[in-house]
Amino acid sequence: MGTILVTGGAGFIGSAVVRHIINNTSDTVVNVDKLTYAGNLESLTSVAKSERYHFEQVDICRQAEISALLNKYQPTAIMHLAAESHVDRSIDGPGEFIQTNIVGTYSLLEAARSYWVDLPEGEQNNFRFHHISTDEVYGDLEGTEDLFTEETPYAPSSPYSASKASSDHLVRAWGRTFGLPIIITNCSNNYGPFHFPEKLVPHVILNALAGKPLPVYGDGSQIRDWLYVEDHARALYRVINKAKIGETFNIGGHNEKKNIEVVETICSLLEELAPNKPKGIKNYRDLITFVTDRPGHDLRYAIDATKIHKELNWKPSETFESGLKKTVLWYLDNQNWWKSILSGEYKLDRIGSESHTKETVVGSK
Ligand code: NAD
Repeated sequence: MGTILVTGGAGFIGSAVVRHIINNTSDTVVNVDKLTYAGNLESLTSVAKSERYHFEQVDICRQAEISALLNKYQPTAIMHLAAESHVDRSIDGPGEFIQTNIVGTYSLLEAARSYWVDLPEGEQNNFRFHHISTDEVYGDLEGTEDLFTEETPYAPSSPYSASKASSDHLVRAWGRTFGLPIIITNCSNNYGPFHFPEKLVPHVILNALAGKPLPVYGDGSQIRDWLYVEDHARALYRVINKAKIGETFNIGGHNEKKNIEVVETICSLLEELAPNKPKGIKNYRDLITFVTDRPGHDLRYAIDATKIHKELNWKPSETFESGLKKTVLWYLDNQNWWKSILSGEYKLDRIGSESHTKETVVGSK
């Protein structure tokens, strides 16, 4: 029984991690989130009343405030998910990515280090700083057979992936230089419930339901490896409890799909699950439109998840087909969640809020 401080717990993957911990373990969670456009407390209503759940609206860049939280809650581990995460936004404006993903990770590491050095010896040995990262740090794969392993050299292509690569390097350096007990995981594309509408899978579902075009980058041949978000949350919890200090694990679903296949599969699922189409639409597939490719767009990502399977006995429980069907059903059954995002209502309680939904092209993470 411990206390886990989760950064970015109001985001897509962070909220799945928080729900997983509260629903399946006896640990306490402190969710530290700035609530940017991507943070949504409505993703946590099912666990918000738990006595083991605490929320603190704090920016990870504010080191003194983070230090105060560490002293207040005395966590046994930090799971660091807070980040700017959308590749297209990093191309439009890289500044926030540098600030949160690099400077924010540095501030968090420094706060964690000064908290950790003052812990009694036994607690120091048990403490973990788990940095959650992406397979995009490896750049892209040229062949159709190659896979990213934990030894693949870093070669990030976008401001997003470069900022995540930088944060991975900082975390490793704090482990090696200062002895902070760190673990890093690099995961493939996630999909599932509570995914912000700008990202590929929800964007396609919601545009199709509204009878809007489904813009696909280039010819849609970019390949991504898809993992159901609840499988990822389960993997992360296993890593934080079982992995040796200093280790890196790649996490993936062994589900390589071309972007166009993802879009077509969603269209087929919608034909079955939402047959009453908007006026004038004969087939959801007719909404697919190809647009100019994103600059620097990586062609193929694919994860070799052998290490986490062998060493920690984790493998995904959903196939792409079963996970995608669950996801489409979730968006059909939870319209209030995404409608309040599309209308901007979900942000009304924030300081300086503005509507942040952004037109997205399919091919984005
Ligand atoms: P997200 O954009 O949905 O959520 C990010 C969360 O971080 C939001 O709740 C936001 O409010 C919060 N946040 C942003 N800046 C902050 C700051 N300065 N201080 C405190 N909180 C802040 O992201 P996600 O998709 O849930 O991704 C979570 C992590 O997992 C990220 O580090 C991302 O790089 C990594 N990752 C994501 C994927 C994916 O497919 N989504 C895959 C692999 C790795």
